[in-house]
This record gives sequence, C-alpha cells and structure tokens, in this order.
Amino acid sequence: MFEPQALYVERGAERYPLGETLVRRYLGRGVPVHWVDDHNRIPELRAWPDRTLPQKKRLLILGVRKTIRLVPNRLSADYILPFTSSGCPAMCVYCYLLCTFFTNSYLRVFVNRDEIWRAVDRKEAHTDRDIVVEIGSNSDLVLEDTLTGSLQWAIDRFSGLRRLQGTLATKFAAVEPLLALDHRRRTRLRVSVNPEPIVRRLEVGTAPLDRRLEAARMLHQAGYPVGVNLAPVVLEDGWERDYGQLLDRLEAELPESLKRTLFFEIIFMTYGVANCRLWAEVSPRIRQPYDPARMRPKGRGKYAYRPEVRGPAEAFFRRELKRRFPQAILTYVC
Ligand code: SF4
Repeated sequence: MFEPQALYVERGAERYPLGETLVRRYLGRGVPVHWVDDHNRIPELRAWPDRTLPQKKRLLILGVRKTIRLVPNRLSADYILPFTSSGCPAMCVYCYLLCTFFTNSYLRVFVNRDEIWRAVDRKEAHTDRDIVVEIGSNSDLVLEDTLTGSLQWAIDRFSGLRRLQGTLATKFAAVEPLLALDHRRRTRLRVSVNPEPIVRRLEVGTAPLDRRLEAARMLHQAGYPVGVNLAPVVLEDGWERDYGQLLDRLEAELPESLKRTLFFEIIFMTYGVANCRLWAEVSPRIRQPYDPARMRPKGRGKYAYRPEVRGPAEAFFRRELKRRFPQAILTYVC
C-alpha cells in the first residue's frame, strides 16, 4: 500500500468528489498538502535535483486531466485512453515513463474521471464493431486503485458496455477488490512478469513474481480474461536460462483452464538515454540493463536490441510458447 509523504494539489481538483475525498483523507492523516496552479508545472518540484527521484516517488499529485481523447493503437488495443493516472511510485530501472516525465514520473492522479469516461461513452454510442481500449498505458492502475478505487469504478462501467472492452497491464498484485465485481468479462487484465533476478534487480517497488502469479490465478478464477505480458524482455547473459525458468513456472503454476485461454504479449526492452543519465545520478552503483554490445540507437533518445540479438530471442519465445502453451494466443511481439 502506497502512503504518500506529501500531496501537491492543483487548485480546483478538490471540487471533484474524488479530489475532495483524497484531500480530506490525507489531511486527516497529517500528510502535508501543497496547493499549486498546474499539476504539470510545479516549480518547487522542478527545482529538486535529479538525485531526489526516490523522494519524488513518495509524493502524490492531484490534478484535472485536460486533454481527453482516444488515440488509435495497433498493439494491445484498438485505442489508448490516457486515464485516471500517470506515473507510479515504483522505480523500475527501465521504466519508459522516465523518457517522458523524467523525475516527474511520480504518481499523478486525475480526479475528473467522469469527464474522462465521456470519451468512452461517445465511442460506444458511435461504433458498430468491437473495440478494445487500453486504459493503463501511463501508469499502473492496480496500484492506483488502492488509493482511488478508479479501476473498480472503470470495470463497473465497462461491464455495462456492448462494444467497448477495457484492458490494462500490471506489475502489482492488489487485485482482491476486483474479484467480486460484476465485470461481465468486459475488462481484460494482463499480468506483467519477468524472471526473478530481473524483478528483484530492475523492478524496484513492484510486487514479487509469486504474488503476480497468484493475482493471475485469482483473476482467472473470478472470470476475468487474463493475459501474460513478458515485459520488458531483458537480454543479458543467461537470458535463455532465466526466461526458460520463468516459462517453467508459468507452465507449472497457472491452472490448466487458464492456459487454454491465455494470451501473451512479448515486449522487448527499449532503454532511454534519459534512464542512463538519471540512474547514473540517482544510484551510480546500479547495474543498468543498457548494453552497447547488444543495443543500438532507435528513434530519439532510445536504444533497442540489434536485429541479430533480438531475432534469435524472438524465435526462442515463439518456439517455447507454442510448445508449452499450444492453445494460448500470442497477441503481439514488439
Ligand atoms: S510499474 Fe510500470 S509504471 Fe511503475 S515504475 Fe515500473 S514500469 Fe514504470
């Protein structure tokens, strides 16, 4: 359970019911509350040096989301909807959000969820085909839900839709509040996993692998469509052994009924120049997963695995998934 050390609240956020609830709750617990004009521009926090990332990750920012729109997507969903949060209190070394938000990748909660949801209602009213909407691209909604209940709120709303289905991935395991919901299979949850040594070294502050697998079992038993994300795949010495052991565990520990309906996503790690720079400042002794022998620049400010490294790894995963989970669907590899 994440307990913020301080709140920064955009003026006006407290006029929304969720904003009011959160401000009251944390004031009641003696948490300092600072009022700001714009959740996107908090001069005081911008002045904090980069090495204070761990301190910033203990903050909670409340704001009102202004830009609300469904963005077309062709990977995990048909559309992405930036939803009720961005950022996260965990500190995954490779976190893609560091490229976008850098040290401002703290948890930011948007309290105007009814306004955000209108984009879903509009699409539902104007489509005659089935559409999957990714709502977890900027944060981890299972973690956010422990503070706001917004994931439960969204699952409840998706359950009433005919065409639109929600989806999100998580590295957390606090799924108990979701289990009794009347979700009508309108929300697909993808449990994101990695080998134990990667989880321990690079996914700081997330749930241990055991608990994520338990979450996958519980969600499946509760009737949710459940997928597994192998994400991000990190190719270091011994990767074949480590991912082989991870797949052994999935094979041994997931129920047969889940293995028959499972869907997989494989996402190879990209690593930001920003991540390199930030971790050198925050934690110089950390062993970063950037490997110039295996990676090359891709796009602006990122490194990706060289084709001659990624190709055999992709073949390994395709072969192993087909052999171990013949009925599962591999939704995409990227
Ligand atoms: S859990 Fe996801 S959003 Fe949070 S730090 Fe890790 S990669 Fe980033």
